[in-house]
Amino acid sequence: MAIRLYDTLSRTKKQLDPVDPARVAMYVCGPTVYGRAHIGNARPAVVFDTLRRLLRHDYGAEHVVYARNITDIDDKIIARAAAEDVPIETITRRYEGFYLADMGALGVEAPDLAPHATTSVPEMVAMIGTLVAKGHAYAAQGHVLFDVPAFAGYGALSRRPLDEMIAGARVEVAPYKRSPADFVLWKPSSGDQPGWDSPWGRGRPGWHIECSAMIAQSLGRTIDIHGGGLDLQFPHHENELAQSTCAHDGAPLANIWMHNGFLGMGDGGKMSKSLGNVVTVEDLLAQGWHGEVLRLALLSAHYRQPLEWTETLLEQSKAKIEKWRRLLGPFPSGQRPAPHPDVVAALADDLNTPAMLAALSAIESDAESLLGSLAFLGLPGFQRADTMAPGAAWRLGTSVVADDGHIDAQVAAQVAARTAARAARNFAESDRIRDELAAAGIILEDGAGGTTWRRG
Ligand code: AMP
Ligand code: ZN
Repeated sequence: MAIRLYDTLSRTKKQLDPVDPARVAMYVCGPTVYGRAHIGNARPAVVFDTLRRLLRHDYGAEHVVYARNITDIDDKIIARAAAEDVPIETITRRYEGFYLADMGALGVEAPDLAPHATTSVPEMVAMIGTLVAKGHAYAAQGHVLFDVPAFAGYGALSRRPLDEMIAGARVEVAPYKRSPADFVLWKPSSGDQPGWDSPWGRGRPGWHIECSAMIAQSLGRTIDIHGGGLDLQFPHHENELAQSTCAHDGAPLANIWMHNGFLGMGDGGKMSKSLGNVVTVEDLLAQGWHGEVLRLALLSAHYRQPLEWTETLLEQSKAKIEKWRRLLGPFPSGQRPAPHPDVVAALADDLNTPAMLAALSAIESDAESLLGSLAFLGLPGFQRADTMAPGAAWRLGTSVVADDGHIDAQVAAQVAARTAARAARNFAESDRIRDELAAAGIILEDGAGGTTWRRG
């Protein structure tokens, strides 16, 4: 089946033509872990989880590799750790665990790869060294900067002319920059800040180089799809593109660049922590909205369009889920019919979720197709929590998880959070997660190859 996706770089819909169809590679910029995710942050997580389900359906699950990083070095993390007087790992492990649990509640499955910035610093230092050696970066006063005017392709992704960017540089230009548009690859750390040794002194990487290095390390030079929210288009993705292209002798970083539009609070603006207009996933679950209602609401608008988050949207999504539950009744769990071809075809046309929802409405009388399509979309909707066997449902906050696939995603997220806690030697937290899962009838087994789980 042909999958067509809108590519921000060429501003056209392109047919997905994987470099290697046996290994379709997708990378999505993940969270900076210093606070709870708001529902706007959940939009890319759900959108690209949906795309991943489509890719797995089309190419086979074993032929898709999806990487979503964790940014666990950042000045906001350092500030939060200082405010609580704890090591940065305490902050990053805590909020990574919350992130995985919150996204799990929305049916977002754990990615295949979750590279962490802190464990990829040698790759970042190596890439910065390559950029310096090739004349694309320069060291100055303990910093290393990317030489923007030396890369002719700069601005192609965001379609911003370089002279406009320079004229528009609002921040006071640092004295060590040759051009106001140059951006930081490496910066010095003071004694109390986290830092790594490098040829330019003890310091830490800039945000943009993190992703370039982690993409090359985890997926290779040229990936098939690179995704994130619209705010990442400039400067983050523009800078990633510049760094990777220059370090890799002109090899493109991604064949398709995808950006989701903003979620806002009904005023046409963007939900953002700095604006203070946020509602967290945790809040919404605590208010009693089930994860699948939130997921459906997030998929209600086309991903490139703005999405206004309103009470009406939530009520409409809830009504739809309840209707499907009524139509399907308590289906035996484990049964997984195929999704309806119209549902799959709608997604294959640049993730056209409004068309996908119309297709779902059209097949409501066909219980099997409806069931298969909902499961494919990560929307359970077919088994009422009150008809489930004891132990099959478990609670995260107030969200009752009601279907097998949905529980799998949650368990995977909890297992990942526990692994992170164990790596940090936070055994109180890892024991707490194990106990919570045990109470839900999930037994964990630690082995040489990692942790596996089964239903008790
Ligand atoms: P951050 O942790 O701030 O880097 O954000 C994580 C992801 O959420 C990025 O892909 C952002 O582009 C995306 N994002 C942040 N705010 C919104 C919003 N209001 N609507 C949609 N996506 C957003
Ligand atoms: Zn990134």
